[in-house]
Amino acid sequence: MDVAVAGAGPAGLFTAVALARRGHRVTVVDRDGGPGADGSWERRGVMQFHHPHGFRPQIGEALDAEMPEMLDALTAAGVEQIRFPGADGQPARAVGLRCRRAVFERVLRAFAVDEPGVALVRGHVDDVAQAGGRATGLIVDGHELAAELVINASGRSARLAAGLRAAAEGGDCGLSYVSRQYILRPGAEPGPMNAPIGIIQTLAGYLVAVFQHDNRTFSALIMRPSDDRRFGALRFPEVFEAAAAAVPALAAWVSPERSRPITPVLPGGRLHNTYRGQLDAGGRVGLPGLLHVGDTVCTTNPAAGRGIAVALRQCVNLLRQLDEHSGDPAAAALAFDEWCTGNVRPWYADHVYWDADLLRRWAGGDVDVTRRLPSDLIMEATEADPSLWRVVGPYQAMDALPATLDEVEPRVRALYARGWRAPAHPGPTRDELAAVVLAAAR
Ligand SMILES: Cc1cc2nc3c(=O)[nH]c(=O)nc-3n(C[C@H](O)[C@H](O)[C@H](O)COP(=O)(O)OP(=O)(O)OC[C@H]3O[C@@H](n4cnc5c(N)ncnc54)[C@H](O)[C@@H]3O)c2cc1C
Repeated sequence: MDVAVAGAGPAGLFTAVALARRGHRVTVVDRDGGPGADGSWERRGVMQFHHPHGFRPQIGEALDAEMPEMLDALTAAGVEQIRFPGADGQPARAVGLRCRRAVFERVLRAFAVDEPGVALVRGHVDDVAQAGGRATGLIVDGHELAAELVINASGRSARLAAGLRAAAEGGDCGLSYVSRQYILRPGAEPGPMNAPIGIIQTLAGYLVAVFQHDNRTFSALIMRPSDDRRFGALRFPEVFEAAAAAVPALAAWVSPERSRPITPVLPGGRLHNTYRGQLDAGGRVGLPGLLHVGDTVCTTNPAAGRGIAVALRQCVNLLRQLDEHSGDPAAAALAFDEWCTGNVRPWYADHVYWDADLLRRWAGGDVDVTRRLPSDLIMEATEADPSLWRVVGPYQAMDALPATLDEVEPRVRALYARGWRAPAHPGPTRDELAAVVLAAAR
């Protein structure tokens, strides 16, 4: 079958290679031409490209299932697979990849280029071609690229075929990122960690994190409410460095003795929580032969680093539906939509609830024990009651859906109602950090 894929991001390329390995001829179209001759890759239109990405185990598992050699290629590129010892003699489970997004995509793109059944084409996808009530290809720079199956993997800002499915739920999550990449100096040890990927700390009114990547690189980031304009100057290197130096968790990593910056400060655009299914407003398949995957279906606040894991899980399920409903893409779309409703939408809903409550608390509100607690508070409560890990661990690892937290939520709420609060991390409040930013910007 001839397949046309709009978008050569992680979802589009993964799906393309996997379909080619099933014997299909796949053309992937992207407006981005790939890395330049000098090796640089700006990747305009994918604003998060140089921002830190945490690569969860689900990503390694998806690669292992469809293109296991890519894990070796990532390792050869300097990517570290982080493994924890398995419990009770079970084999160790990969817990993720320490990797820059740019390195991940370079390796994936090289796989797609080398895959015999995949052709990568540079061009702007204007629209989906249709005839006789089904998708017949893509319109690329005004010309039709004929295909029997069309996959929309054009990312979080996708406007492609917008009229063919119900409007997206959700929108701006109210939080913004600023980050910068560094490299450890020769012989320097990594800084303090509290997570496999590095360190993540919520302070009074903002969040900081360090993501370890490949080849001794790492990113430091600061996340805060988008509407707090006092932090706009963080995009200037001297201001970002002053702010990072003021927060102990970041200061330990970015101190000039330990590391040096290798990029400018990367201001982040706004972050979204959105969900959009396959079907039109009437619950029907909008256009048989057209399927949507990756960020075109779901985006979540990246603070929990779920995006590519959710995207590749979708791809794996989409491939399964196409295998099972071979020759009937409308049936595949219905089955895929049902799976996404049950297995993708809950991650979106989890973040919507969590982010709204986080912003309320960051504005000065206390834990609200009159209603269900958001997931971040349930995770924090493991500090007071480690027995919660039995339920929290699988959720945190994305092996269990957010609803599994319901089992312990009343117990955790009672804990907060008795007055327990997570111990504060050392560091300035958001007002104090804003003062550091304003002073450094003068
Ligand atoms: C700030 C930030 C940080 C993030 N951090 C993490 C993290 O830590 N861990 C994680 O797993 N995820 C993270 N994510 C999410 C992750 O980046 C996305 O889930 C991922 O990019 C989704 O891949 P995709 O292939 O669906 O879309 P994309 O990567 O957006 O790819 C879409 C492609 O389509 C192309 N395209 C779009 N429209 C057209 C058109 N009309 N014509 C031709 N080409 C087109 C684009 O050029 C692009 O190449 C983060 C996101 C953000 C915003």
